[in-house]
Amino acid sequence: MSFEENREALVKNLLFEKRIISEKVKNAFLNTPRELFLPDSLKKYAYADTPLQIGKGQTISAPHMVAIMCEELDIKEGQKILEIGAGSGYHAAVVANITGENGHVYTIERFSVLAENAKQNLERAEIKNVTVELGDGSEGLSKYAPYDRIYVTCGAPDIPPPLIEQLKDPGKLLIPVGGTICTLILLEKKDNKTKTYNCGGCAFVPLIGKHGYHSL
Ligand code: SAM
Repeated sequence: MSFEENREALVKNLLFEKRIISEKVKNAFLNTPRELFLPDSLKKYAYADTPLQIGKGQTISAPHMVAIMCEELDIKEGQKILEIGAGSGYHAAVVANITGENGHVYTIERFSVLAENAKQNLERAEIKNVTVELGDGSEGLSKYAPYDRIYVTCGAPDIPPPLIEQLKDPGKLLIPVGGTICTLILLEKKDNKTKTYNCGGCAFVPLIGKHGYHSL
C-alpha cells in the first residue's frame, strides 16, 4: 500500500475509534504526510498508531494522541497557537493545517538537533505557517504572546505559570501533568478566571526545564 493509502486507513481507524471527531481534524490528518517527519529507517511505520523514536531519546507522538489533543483544544481557523515540544514538527504541522494560512503555530524545542530537523521536515512538507524556536518552553514563548491555544507535548510536574499568563482570555491550554504516566489537563481561561478539566490518562516524555523536571 502507498503512504497515501496507509494514511487514509489510519484516519478511518481514528474515526472509528472516535479519536477524530471533527471534519477539520480529519482533513488535517489527510493533508499531513507523517512519513516526511520521520527518519528514513522508520518511514515504513509512519501510519502505525504508535509513538516512534526521533533521536535524543524523544518521540513523535502517536497519531491518536495528536487527534485527541486537536479535538480537545477545538482549534479554529486563523488562531495563534503555541506548542511546547516541537520534536519532529508533525503535531505542529497538523495544527497549522487547521489554523490555515491566516493562523500561525509557534513551537519551541529544547534540543537544537531536533529543532533543526523539525524546521527541515516542515520545509519539506511545504508548511509556511509554523515557526520553530529553540529554548525552554516551560517558560512559554513570551515574544509572540498571547496565544489563543497553548499545548504541551511532554509531561509536566504541574501547569507552568508562564503558560497561563501567555494564554489569551478566552483561551485554552492543554497539558499532560504528572511526569511520564500522566493526566491530560485542559485549562480554560475566561473572564479572568481559570477552570480545569481532566481529559484522561496518557504517557509522554517529561518536560525538562525551569517549570518542568530538572533532569531526566
Ligand atoms: N510534538 C512532537 C512531534 O510531533 O514530533 C512530539 C514531541 S515529544 C513527545 C516531546 C518533545 O518535548 C521532545 O522533543 C522534547 O525534547 C521536548 N521538550 C521537553 N522539555 C522541553 C522544554 N522545556 N522546552 C521545549 N521542549 C521540550
